[in-house]
Amino acid sequence: MGGCFVDMDVVIFGGGAAGLWLLDELTRRGQQAVLLEANALGTGQTVAAQGIIHGGLKYTLQGLLTNSATSIREMPALWRECLDGVREPDLSAVQRRSNECFLWRTDSLSSRLGMLGAQFGLRVAPQSVSKDDRPEILRGCPGTVARLPEQVISTVSLIEVLATRNREWLLKIDPARVVFEYGEPGEVASIRLDDDVALHPRAVVFTAGAGNSGLRRRVGLTGEAMQRRPLHMVMLRGGRLPMFQGHCIDGAKTRVTITSEMDSSGRTVWQVGGQIAEDGVAWDEQTLLSRAREELRSVLPNIDLSSVEWSTYRVDRAEGIVPGGKRPESVQVRREGNCLTAWPTKLALVPQLVAEIAEAIAQPARRVSEGLRLTPGSVSSQAHRASVAIENLPHDWPRPTVAFPPWETATRWLTSDDLAAPSQPAALPKAA
Ligand SMILES: Cc1cc2nc3c(=O)[nH]c(=O)nc-3n(C[C@H](O)[C@H](O)[C@H](O)COP(=O)(O)OP(=O)(O)OC[C@H]3O[C@@H](n4cnc5c(N)ncnc54)[C@H](O)[C@@H]3O)c2cc1C
Repeated sequence: MGGCFVDMDVVIFGGGAAGLWLLDELTRRGQQAVLLEANALGTGQTVAAQGIIHGGLKYTLQGLLTNSATSIREMPALWRECLDGVREPDLSAVQRRSNECFLWRTDSLSSRLGMLGAQFGLRVAPQSVSKDDRPEILRGCPGTVARLPEQVISTVSLIEVLATRNREWLLKIDPARVVFEYGEPGEVASIRLDDDVALHPRAVVFTAGAGNSGLRRRVGLTGEAMQRRPLHMVMLRGGRLPMFQGHCIDGAKTRVTITSEMDSSGRTVWQVGGQIAEDGVAWDEQTLLSRAREELRSVLPNIDLSSVEWSTYRVDRAEGIVPGGKRPESVQVRREGNCLTAWPTKLALVPQLVAEIAEAIAQPARRVSEGLRLTPGSVSSQAHRASVAIENLPHDWPRPTVAFPPWETATRWLTSDDLAAPSQPAALPKAA
């Protein structure tokens, strides 16, 4: 199809949870939108995430009602409605790992948990669990155990469901071949995908996670906008690991956050994050795994780690920049020209991010190609070409697949025998 020049409302770059949910929202609102994906959908953060739909309790542990807690507290109820199929997007086909997380403390302030939830009006306040009702793995824990109605989902399944709902509007791209035509920084007139196809959008949204930085440079938006906060996550599989989702809290810190799922061979896999994954950034795999084993034995005295295999993965959280590199309080959206750059900060906050972007896009914007001043190096204006409707996108254009989770791609798994006993405590680096 020679010289296809396609008019549309929105072009989205990046098909993680944020971009795919946004595409779903826009198409339901009758907007003509496509999503361009450079890799497999969810590559980067979403398939590496633990899938907890946080309700803010973690953020109140310092005893302050932080802005983070305020913005996140409505999210579990909203997600629950989507997961129950009574609100769009209908996510009833998404695999739920659990409808709740356990919370247990290793300090003496166990009673604070319930107090905090009530005090801050959290919608997901924890409920104390009697000794008899505890899961086997928490029976040896001395402190109070609570149940927190925060759902845990399979993020790969979320991506699959959203992708299936919107398949015809997903295009796989080679970023090296994409050419932007823009005027003032962020005023994008067209996006050329190859010699034959160019898109002519009213608005462009970057939801490419860590890829946002490079995309912004491609449209003349320089300046620091993004920060990365690295993690070195631990994975365990096999043995007698039960399915378990929970946080172990000490003071205001989350010592470990454990989530579990079945792998493709039917083994239970644990992902372990929290403080150990922050500290682990400075450690090599062996050091991290030895420390993680000690930490798990310390916070879960009943754990049986015989025949378990161990691995790690590194991943960066990509977020809008915050002074001091701290965690942003909420979602981050920047609007420059007809470009929006967005980071949800948390998976749980994706619906809020999408509502903000959809609102911004709903406001009338001019088509920027008219009267556009082209920058040197941009392709010649395509505005004179006859445009076609979005339905005329080439049907045989490659479509992106869904990324595999880290436990399916990890090639190196160590046995407990391979893990050295830590001879001396590794120096604790400062939390990222
Ligand atoms: C280890 C870990 C655990 C987490 N656990 C939780 C949790 O339990 N609960 C929670 O609420 N949050 C959690 N988070 C945060 C959450 O995962 C992220 O906030 C969220 O997934 C970000 O989604 P995203 O769509 O913005 O980005 P990403 O998931 O990173 O997706 C970006 C997409 O853009 C694509 N892309 C990149 N460059 C380009 C380009 N140039 N052109 C086109 N496409 C491009 C990528 O291939 C990818 O598909 C966790 C994060 C990490 C790292």
